[in-house]
Amino acid sequence: MTGLGAAITMSMAPTLLASKSNAIENPAILGGNPIRTKPWPKWPIWDPETDEKQVIEVLRSGVWSRKKVVTEFEKQWAETIGAKRALAVVNGTNALIAALVQLDIGGGDEVIVPPYTFIATVAAVIATGAMPVFVDTDRETFQIDTEKIEAKITSRTRAILPVHILGLPANMPRIMEIANKHNLIVVEDACQAWLAEINHKKMGTFGHAGCFSFQNSKNMAIGEGGAIVSDDDDFMDRCYSYHNYGNPYGAMIGEVGAGTVIAGTKLRITEYQAAIGLAQLKRLEAQTVTRNENAGYLKSQINDIPGIIPYKLYDNVTRAAFHLFPFRYNKEEFQEMPREKFIKALGAEGVPCSQGYATLNNMPYLKNAFQSKNFRKMYPKEMLDINTYNEQNQCPENDQLCHEEAVWLSQSMLLTKQTDMDDIAMAIEKIQKNADKINKA
Ligand SMILES: *Cc1c(COP(=O)(O)O)cnc(C)c1O
Repeated sequence: MTGLGAAITMSMAPTLLASKSNAIENPAILGGNPIRTKPWPKWPIWDPETDEKQVIEVLRSGVWSRKKVVTEFEKQWAETIGAKRALAVVNGTNALIAALVQLDIGGGDEVIVPPYTFIATVAAVIATGAMPVFVDTDRETFQIDTEKIEAKITSRTRAILPVHILGLPANMPRIMEIANKHNLIVVEDACQAWLAEINHKKMGTFGHAGCFSFQNSKNMAIGEGGAIVSDDDDFMDRCYSYHNYGNPYGAMIGEVGAGTVIAGTKLRITEYQAAIGLAQLKRLEAQTVTRNENAGYLKSQINDIPGIIPYKLYDNVTRAAFHLFPFRYNKEEFQEMPREKFIKALGAEGVPCSQGYATLNNMPYLKNAFQSKNFRKMYPKEMLDINTYNEQNQCPENDQLCHEEAVWLSQSMLLTKQTDMDDIAMAIEKIQKNADKINKA
């Protein structure tokens, strides 16, 4: 509390330079000058000059339901990802559900998932009636630990749902090897991995299907939106039909005059969403390049700070999406300062960050699903015992990552200059040097 008054006075220091030279001994959380006062880029980015023409055209046309703009967006998305086909849908969650359902995943099946992901990944599995089976995280890469997948395969296992979490590619070559060996379907949750690559091949194109999200916070922001990509025409025709009430489409023609051919739903996006998507797509490539450059530079700048362990990419990764910039925090090198305090101290220096995901493998939603009528009809009683389930789905590495280690910086912070990355590195270093002081305060 005593620091508060001091912070206000000192932030009025005459020049940034003066504030910086003094900053090193005086953490902002204790009333010193923050390393940075300049704001970070806002998200999403929108330029009325270049982005609004087509959106306004669509609005004035009165053609708002799916028509040629959505089709054009799908065409460009497929080209961008290097897939034969793309289908736009309402969001990433439903892209996953549609892909799983059309690959015949459902009640009684097990689907292998990582615990280090956004809830939507697991929610999608449960929505199909399938049982999520968690495989622990490799803390170095933040991705599913492929060495631990095979031990979790049972006679019920039908699919692996790898997630390229934080926009860093999961080890797809190895995952496909395991899937092929055990005859499993692979649906990639690429909802954070737009344009990320392994050996110059885009994420979302390794498995039978890839799913994307265009939600507002995502690197490719439409507000809401999602897409499924695949090279399998029959599968994509089924997905199209499914997203349009199950009405005939492509190979899904059924008998002439017989009407609706499959059990479908309604997942179509609007023409104005697609117009926003086309505008955003124009800047995705350049932004991805910038994020990669700045992430690589920032990593090199913080690599040697004791107690800071940046993400590791697999050797064959040629590009990441960096939806987040993650590193691991080791409090032993920070005088045992809890991560929460480190995050506050870094925030006070003008570098906002967060601790990221909570553990998904033991939240109440699982018990709720197991008590549902569908699950009770699909699975033997033993499989729905939540204590046994929790026991079998322990992920100790992931617990450590979630509870103690992970720290995230957001993707939009990477859309700046190298000197802005220096601010981040400097702020972390400053906290490291003053850990004792901060921790005792
Ligand atoms: C955002 C996200 C989703 C879901 O996408 P929505 O468009 O929000 O439904 C699924 N998986 C991951 C990893 C995500 O980040």
